[in-house]
Amino acid sequence: MGLIIYCAGAFVPEEEAKVSVFDHGFLYGDGIFEGIRAYHGRVFKLKEHLDRLYNSALSIKLNIGITKEEMQEVVLETLRRNDMEEGYIRLVVSRGKGDLGLDPANCPQSAIYCIAGKIKIYDDALYNKGLPVKSLATRRNSPDALDPRIKSLNYLNNILAKLEANQAGVVEGIMLNQQGYVAEGTSDNIFIYRRGVLITPPLYAGALEGITRNTVMDLARELGIEAREELFTRYDLYAAEECFLTGTAAEVIPVISVDERVIGAGVPGEIFKKILVAFRELTKVDGPKIYNK
Ligand code: PMP
Repeated sequence: MGLIIYCAGAFVPEEEAKVSVFDHGFLYGDGIFEGIRAYHGRVFKLKEHLDRLYNSALSIKLNIGITKEEMQEVVLETLRRNDMEEGYIRLVVSRGKGDLGLDPANCPQSAIYCIAGKIKIYDDALYNKGLPVKSLATRRNSPDALDPRIKSLNYLNNILAKLEANQAGVVEGIMLNQQGYVAEGTSDNIFIYRRGVLITPPLYAGALEGITRNTVMDLARELGIEAREELFTRYDLYAAEECFLTGTAAEVIPVISVDERVIGAGVPGEIFKKILVAFRELTKVDGPKIYNK
């Protein structure tokens, strides 16, 4: 059976869920989105995702047209219509239909789309074995041109990086910023553990403010692990005792080598394992219930 999609104001079967060729999300990547997960009948960190979506909207001067409470209902109802208690939700708000010029002033009505489906970006085995990654020549967008904190529909910077990673024979690559500091993966945030401290790049390094990243920072502190934001370079990556990536789609996945330098013992580390257990526990209790039972 096909999916039921929320498509610009109505729930329709997936065959009928179509976007106009004049939609500026399609023509110019003018829009924003969220990738969200449901676990155990709840939508994990939904408030945080909606806050980020509405902040992205403010940043690109996009009027979403409905409240966060109404948007929460769109997400929950999309899951209910698909009878889903676990899965991946893609929530998209585009500038809507306009003319062939890029001016958003000619797009009178933004459009909201919500898809509840599945996602798998890495093979299951890699979560136990860990990922080999490589640093990439493609630099992360500079925050003074297109701030990576805006979760926009324009993902070509990341896609160029992903193509480079594919070509280098790895399933994920690490992006640096213009100054050579580590920024993030192509669609996930990065952490290293070194000398007793868990470190992730600050947002001004050019990273999305990942919901999973923030969750991992909170969990680490609850576990008594010192966690902080700090700029670091490839040297620090190579010298790290542990490394892992975080993201809604990726969840928490260990990295075992960077540019063919083995990280730690070359197997998923103890800090990673503790965080993963705490993360899995949190997915059982966090977020609004899909059904009010
Ligand atoms: N960085 C980028 C570029 C992303 O697209 C994503 C989301 N897929 C992340 C980091 C991780 O963010 P989150 O934990 O909120 O999914």
